[in-house]
Amino acid sequence: MSKGETNIIVVMRKGAMARQIANVIARVEQMGCQTYISEGEEHTTIGVVGNGRPLNREQIELMDGVERTVPILRPFRLASREFHPQDTVVPINGITIGGEQLIVMAGPCAIESREQLMETARAVKAAGAHVLRGGAFKPRSSPYSFQGLGEDGLKLLAQAREETGLPVVTEVMDPDTVPLVTTYADILQIGARNMQNYSLLHAVGQAQRPVLLKRGLMSTIEELLMAAEYILSHGNDRIILCERGIRTFEPYTRNTLDISAVPLIKQLSHLPVIVDPSHATGKWELVEPVSRAAVAAGADGLEIEVHPNPEEALSDGAQSLKPARFAALMESLRLIAKAVGRRM
Ligand code: PEP
Ligand code: MN
Repeated sequence: MSKGETNIIVVMRKGAMARQIANVIARVEQMGCQTYISEGEEHTTIGVVGNGRPLNREQIELMDGVERTVPILRPFRLASREFHPQDTVVPINGITIGGEQLIVMAGPCAIESREQLMETARAVKAAGAHVLRGGAFKPRSSPYSFQGLGEDGLKLLAQAREETGLPVVTEVMDPDTVPLVTTYADILQIGARNMQNYSLLHAVGQAQRPVLLKRGLMSTIEELLMAAEYILSHGNDRIILCERGIRTFEPYTRNTLDISAVPLIKQLSHLPVIVDPSHATGKWELVEPVSRAAVAAGADGLEIEVHPNPEEALSDGAQSLKPARFAALMESLRLIAKAVGRRM
């Protein structure tokens, strides 16, 4: 019995004809709804996001070719697995995130100099990393700490991409700098502190560039998925979610990695999920075991901080791996990846 839901999924019969699918789409769009088609192996499904007014499911179920309708009860819709049963795979310059391949993003917390960035970029590339990370606009807890090199840092990042061929990910902190960061970055990173900065989420949604969305320090999984929903609502579905630890009562680690968030988000959503073991633990000694656990738990990738001289790093030295340790970590990850059917 329909209760007047505003968001539903229309499941078409096996072998439904293109004309029948088009009729359903035309009918609900006429009612002011948005539609999202997914071609499954057996059934085509049409996600219908209402315009706030309840939909008459019985009427839609009477249409030719319709098998049934299913209400979407969760607050996130476009991000939900019901809406989009297949995994979303995000293509970035020849690699894919969310498919069989396990993706490792690595590099310094902050870009400090050309030498520091190039040395790190070459080392992580040689060890098999797929994406270079590096912050140019840094969200620091203290206004007296190093704030990043800004556009000069982005230019260095672009040079490192040129030299190594690695795509680059870097943080954007406010809506005004989205156009600038978009000219340099392959992936726009939304930091934990900005996960609920709604004007920033709108801006990266409009930028039509892949987005790495990090879970807030004190955010629930539902809040993370609602943040993704903002970006998806602009038609940008190239989103990679990142579990980077949440704040708990435990002071021995910087944050507490919520490992169950990985399989849980994969149940709830079709979006890829990666883990940041560096910010999750705050301690370089914990980065390797936690990375292995993340891959075993089904993460689609990792984001790891690497610095040639962690003791001199301008930010997050304590959690940064030296290049040799990063290379050793990559080797040990290959074994875990293989065990869970992923390739690196
Ligand atoms: C970072 O990746 O450099 C960073 C600041 O991470 P987070 O936003 O997760 O704290
Ligand atoms: Mn950092």
